[in-house]
Amino acid sequence: MPQALVHYHELALKGRNRGVFQQRLVQHLQHSLKHTDVTEVKALPGRLRIAFRHGDSWEAVRDRIRHTFGVANYALADSLPIDYASPNLAPLCRAIEAALQPETFSTFRVTAKRGDKRFAKTSLELNREIGAHLCRATGKRVSLGEADLTVAVEIVDHAAYFSLRKHPGPGGLPTGSGGRVLCLISGGIDSPVAACRMMKRGCRAVFVHFHGRPYLSRASEEKVRDLVSRLTDYQLKSRLYLVPFGAIQRTIVVHAPAPIRVVMYRRMMLRIAEHLAERERCWGLVTGDSLGQVASQTAENLRSVSEAAQLPILRPLIGMDKIEIITEAQRIGTFDTSIEPDEDCCTLFIPPHPNTRSRIDDVRQAERPLPIGDMVKAGIDAAEVAEFSFGAGPAR
Ligand code: ATP
Ligand code: MG
Repeated sequence: MPQALVHYHELALKGRNRGVFQQRLVQHLQHSLKHTDVTEVKALPGRLRIAFRHGDSWEAVRDRIRHTFGVANYALADSLPIDYASPNLAPLCRAIEAALQPETFSTFRVTAKRGDKRFAKTSLELNREIGAHLCRATGKRVSLGEADLTVAVEIVDHAAYFSLRKHPGPGGLPTGSGGRVLCLISGGIDSPVAACRMMKRGCRAVFVHFHGRPYLSRASEEKVRDLVSRLTDYQLKSRLYLVPFGAIQRTIVVHAPAPIRVVMYRRMMLRIAEHLAERERCWGLVTGDSLGQVASQTAENLRSVSEAAQLPILRPLIGMDKIEIITEAQRIGTFDTSIEPDEDCCTLFIPPHPNTRSRIDDVRQAERPLPIGDMVKAGIDAAEVAEFSFGAGPAR
């Protein structure tokens, strides 16, 4: 039966949390692989084993593993039972020799690992003995540095596993291990990347989008649904709050001096987001801000905006250049959607010369005549909720 071995970053999972983390990873993979022909996802000491029925399913299985945070690397593997006390390496050597037959290479190396120290041979002995056999059988050379091909051997669970190709996984920590965060998502390039970074650190993301209806079309909203649906590939289930923001912006426009309006919009967004975060038991708010990128993201304005919320505001892109963010958006698959044309609510009522150095006292002064509590409540009451689950597409 075809099988894969999945490794996580052991350093990250050391100590008391390890069992819980491993269990999360197993459950996530079981859920994620539900619609493939996988028969078992099993925790072995230090790694996971995924068994599936047909070799043809590998691409589908692989695609799910690639979208699973916490996976450091993975490989399609074969295995043979092996005796720990008096191991006979001959059948293993023959099996590896057969697996090497279709491969073209001139140098190779063997990297063996004992997952269980009760095994009678050391890793070094395994490397030497298997290496010597393969040299004789194939006529190829061993190169410990830059080998064309690496044969990985792992002794675990009374079996010898071997694989020829290790693939890097997405890294990070298993979904849910970092608690829940509320991500402010626009239709732009940055915020989906910011959300994905927090998801990679094990956070479960809940999303909120502020849209310009009734003043603007549904374009930004459709893009955001598409983006959330893509990000759901990683966490399997998502919730998106859609909050109408047009009326709130109009109120701000009527009362506030033009240059600080953008800061005021952002503060209202954070206040509403914070209420939703409480409802969703989220410990932080996530935005796609990058220092100095636009007028609303200068040091002074970020500070004025942050002051409106109590919860930690997480800005995972704060030190990144636009080019770096774009590269990451392309890698995680959100870029093409993000660059589709839309009408973001923030382009509505945008002042021609926004203040890049707002003073918090001026902002508070400008907010004084506004019924902030009522505006927040109205936004929350009018919010629509959309649920997404992996494989099902967005629920509308
Ligand atoms: P993005 O590419 O994420 O849209 P941006 O470079 O356009 O970011 P801004 O428009 O200043 O920057 O937005 C900064 C952050 O504020 C966004 O990354 C996002 O987290 C949040 N934000 C902006 N507009 C909205 C919106 N309509 N709904 C939800 N969050 C928003
Ligand atoms: Mg934007």
